[in-house]
Amino acid sequence: MKDDLKNNRGDDLIKVVRPRHPEKINKPNSRLLRKPSWLKVKAPNSAGFFETKKIVQDHDVFTVCEEASCPNIGSCWAKKHATFMIMGGICTRACGFCNVTTGKPKKLDLFEPARVANAVSKLGLKHVVITSVDRDDLEDGGANHFAKTVGLIRMKCPKTSVEILTPDFLKSNQDPLPVLLGCLPDVFNHNLETVPRLYQEVRPGSRYYASLRLLDRVKELEPKIFTKSGMMVGLGEEFKEILQVMDDLRAAKVDFLTIGQYLQPTKKHYPLDRFVSVEEFNKLKKIAYGKGFLMVSSSPFTRSSFHADDDYQELLKKKQVNVSG
Ligand code: SF4
Repeated sequence: MKDDLKNNRGDDLIKVVRPRHPEKINKPNSRLLRKPSWLKVKAPNSAGFFETKKIVQDHDVFTVCEEASCPNIGSCWAKKHATFMIMGGICTRACGFCNVTTGKPKKLDLFEPARVANAVSKLGLKHVVITSVDRDDLEDGGANHFAKTVGLIRMKCPKTSVEILTPDFLKSNQDPLPVLLGCLPDVFNHNLETVPRLYQEVRPGSRYYASLRLLDRVKELEPKIFTKSGMMVGLGEEFKEILQVMDDLRAAKVDFLTIGQYLQPTKKHYPLDRFVSVEEFNKLKKIAYGKGFLMVSSSPFTRSSFHADDDYQELLKKKQVNVSG
């Protein structure tokens, strides 16, 4: 009888209204600050946006663009650039900044990798970013599902470069890197998100030095793979703490740094401290280049996957110049 209430993917057909962030219900409300003019975006309405939306819906896949309420969705989807979020739409962590639904995830959908590969093909992506929810419930943290997805994209779209934006696999019982690096992603991206002092509240399930070490080990094991990491600003970090994160990332030989403005999704999320000015983002970019990053993207709208295709081409060019220079 119970099965009659589910579709063939096991989804409940009768919607039970559950909060998106049950762990945040009892948090105090914080005041949502009004966005400055440079952060306002128009509602998406281009033909490309609606075509992308249809492809995403038709393939029954999740995108972080929608799940995280990314402000760039209008401009990215107009160009048919979407970032796929695999392993379902429910995350086992409860990060203070994130708008992805939290809770107990469903079983892994074994057909999801093929649907993602088909969607990548349909969108005609030259470069794709694959990210995921945290799956602390899985023995391998989902590393094999990542590898399967990348493998199928490689088969279906051999010319497409692949960037993986991974969780930290902190609770996994297996080392994820042999599996993840075995599928030879072109870019390995893992975000530090914020400065170590704020981890307890902003990323309570994660450890700053574990994330850093993950990136460090990628370079140790596969020095040719580009590594990338990102952080948000506006959470209350101090300037010198941002510089410390840059130094730590350079010590781990990370190639590419992204810095963007934190936007507080709801009153229950980690409170926004301030809007960082465009001038300050430019200053951070200059300092980061001075510290030796091959690429830096620093602007209010920067997100790990924003312009990831153009940035990957730029990375390749810069690497070439470094090798021949
Ligand atoms: S920046 Fe990334 S997450 Fe945001 S809309 Fe663009 S592709 Fe999606």
